Amino acid sequence: MIYKEGEIIFESAPFCTSLNYEKKGRYCDYCFKERNKLFECQNCHLMFYCNRNCEEFNSIHKFECRAFSEISKHQYPNERLQNASIILFLRILIKIKLDDSVIGEEIDQFNNLSDEFDKLKNDKEKIEKMTLFINNIELIMGSQFISKFTSDEIISNFGKMVLHQFEIKDQNIAIGMGIYLKPSKNLKHSCEPNSKVFFNGNKLYVKAERLILNNEDPTISFCDLKLSDSERKKFLKTHFYFECNCPRCSGINKEQVIFF
Ligand SMILES: [Zn+2]
Ligand SMILES: [Zn+2]
Ligand SMILES: [Zn+2]
Repeated sequence: MIYKEGEIIFESAPFCTSLNYEKKGRYCDYCFKERNKLFECQNCHLMFYCNRNCEEFNSIHKFECRAFSEISKHQYPNERLQNASIILFLRILIKIKLDDSVIGEEIDQFNNLSDEFDKLKNDKEKIEKMTLFINNIELIMGSQFISKFTSDEIISNFGKMVLHQFEIKDQNIAIGMGIYLKPSKNLKHSCEPNSKVFFNGNKLYVKAERLILNNEDPTISFCDLKLSDSERKKFLKTHFYFECNCPRCSGINKEQVIFF
């Protein structure tokens, strides 16, 4: 495929999302659109929607709503529920074990995402973070929920989350995070990417930033491109466990590519 500059390469609906706590009441918890008026979930009062349709489409919430309302009854502030990453992890676990409205194909695609299991298992810092997340999820959902997962399953799903989550932005402001299967499967990193991700509500779009030719794969950047070569390398190694061999990191500049 050839893509012209500015062309949309593909779009993707989310596998699951989590709205940042400070955006609640301003953005719909389902479609991530900013609204002047939203109505709240009548049970937990922690989810806000444009209308009944958005509430209904957000089918995952029925598995967490009762637990959320118990916590919001007994505790204030709901620190545990204010961490969007913990809620994202909870929703991944719900989706793969409890939510049978998810089609098999989607679950297969999620299960096929890379998790860097062996590297993650020996990464003390990430395992500590995962343990903190799981302890909080256990306090929200109860130990029966957590007991449905083996420790290897928890590590694998945590790995999939940290490697594949996208920060959802409205213009340039972060409003939440989400897992999107299509880009996670189809896009590789480059420090000189030819494409860019943007959002409209909860929908992710990948757009060609320049002409992309037949023999090229669309690439996006997983890191801040303003960082120096060594900073980028370090970041990618720490967060994504790979050595970047993109043209920019290997010191091949454009002229060399074109003329030699
Ligand atoms: Zn909505
Ligand atoms: Zn609710
Ligand atoms: Zn690179």
